Amino acid sequence: MHVLLATSELNPYSKTGGLADMVSALARALAGTGLRVSVVTPLYRGMTESHPGIEPTSWRWAFPMGENLVEGRFHCQKPSPNLTLWFVDQAGFFDRPGVYGEGGRDYADNAARFIFLSRAALILARHLPEPPKVLHCHDWQTGLIPILARHAQLQTGWTQAPRTIFTIHNLAFQGSFPISSWGLTGLPSDWLHLESALHFERVNFLKAGLTQSQAITTVSPTYAQEILTPEYGCGLEGLLLKRYNDLSGILNGVDHEEWSPGSDPALPAPFTAEDPAGKAVCKAALQRELGLPENPALPLFANISRLTDQKGSALIVQTLRGLLDAGEALQFALLGSGERSLENAFRDLSKRFPDQVAARIGFDPALSHRIEAGADFYLMPSRFEPCGLNQLYSLRYGAIPIVRATGGLQDSVIDPRENAAQATGIKFIPSTEAALKKAILKALALWKEPAWLQHIRHNGMTADFSWEKQAAEYVALYESVCRE
Ligand code: ADP
Repeated sequence: MHVLLATSELNPYSKTGGLADMVSALARALAGTGLRVSVVTPLYRGMTESHPGIEPTSWRWAFPMGENLVEGRFHCQKPSPNLTLWFVDQAGFFDRPGVYGEGGRDYADNAARFIFLSRAALILARHLPEPPKVLHCHDWQTGLIPILARHAQLQTGWTQAPRTIFTIHNLAFQGSFPISSWGLTGLPSDWLHLESALHFERVNFLKAGLTQSQAITTVSPTYAQEILTPEYGCGLEGLLLKRYNDLSGILNGVDHEEWSPGSDPALPAPFTAEDPAGKAVCKAALQRELGLPENPALPLFANISRLTDQKGSALIVQTLRGLLDAGEALQFALLGSGERSLENAFRDLSKRFPDQVAARIGFDPALSHRIEAGADFYLMPSRFEPCGLNQLYSLRYGAIPIVRATGGLQDSVIDPRENAAQATGIKFIPSTEAALKKAILKALALWKEPAWLQHIRHNGMTADFSWEKQAAEYVALYESVCRE
């Protein structure tokens, strides 16, 4: 079987969040099962320089989009015999400093940019020598692909049209644009209605994916349930309830090629669950790098995140401020960027407690590895979390996760109250300062019980979140939609 994955981000070529990691790891894991896998994604600025393996092809095309005829060209890389990456080159749309925007503002033409990507995916699906049987779309940027495929099938008798699957990585980002953007799709105006992409008098790309695909997945079983409720459904819960039978949740995995503390080139010393000594070296080096006192006795907490309400960033600041004011002996390292007020709140906290708090504002993948390796505990108090990857990386790197019990956090961390023998972290439920504080105090108590701490850390480091296991679930889904 041949599967085409469509995504706006692909690690290591482009990344703003977990989507990039997920699609990259899924593609390789699927190829590892023997499937033929293609991925289509934009060619953003600088990618051909940083990845010389990407080669231009002679495959060019053009679409009318509004008043303009917009030209595109595929570039290609084949990292392994079963895996082909197709990069959509359209300099006007993608040769820019940002992926979605700059200076905290989205690009004004994001509708056009991602309609272009989606239409390019259709060209591949129709004209690759071995047409894909499944077109697997990820997030709103590729949400129009299922309806584009359906239209091409009905209008042009495309008998080999693929089955389409849409994966929700975050329901809060829907790609909602003025009605005028519909004209860029090349679809007839009567194809825009309440059962397709029309949502509150706007074109909603995510809704199009949800209504028009054959199957819907999201990235954890708990989030698949949560999004059926008004609290988490972002206004689409009614539609999702209607498609309940086509909706499933498959937890993301960890890309072991990138995230293995025993062989991670970003770390000053390797370590494993069986031979954890190197973790102390990583912690000392991290404390030095961040300008914190090098002290093995102090528990080091960490967070690596987009700084936003979803991730509970303000809750972290308030709770830590309270604990540090009360004289608790701990250190905290932040790596993140996002809302200015939150960036400043973390900067202020580090100025107020320079020996205890280090805040690195920015996006730095290598530092994120060193933080996971050096930290003792990892804070993830998300208000909602479709899957979350950093708690999985934390487990593997021996940074015990402290998480709010929601979405993928609920599915990937085991609290001692759930199962003491298999516990891997600490969970709390209410999204409040009191609840996070209590969870951190539990961690501080755990810090004083080395045998118990070691037990929980070892459980986490040896927990199996490999992509091999998760990819098998996608293969089963692909096979089932092809049988329908
Ligand atoms: P999101 O909702 O942002 O996609 P995930 O937990 O699913 O959250 O994935 C976030 C990914 O982005 C992780 O790989 C994480 O390490 C990475 N990341 C987030 N912020 C930063 C940062 N400031 N520097 C480096 N990596 C980051």
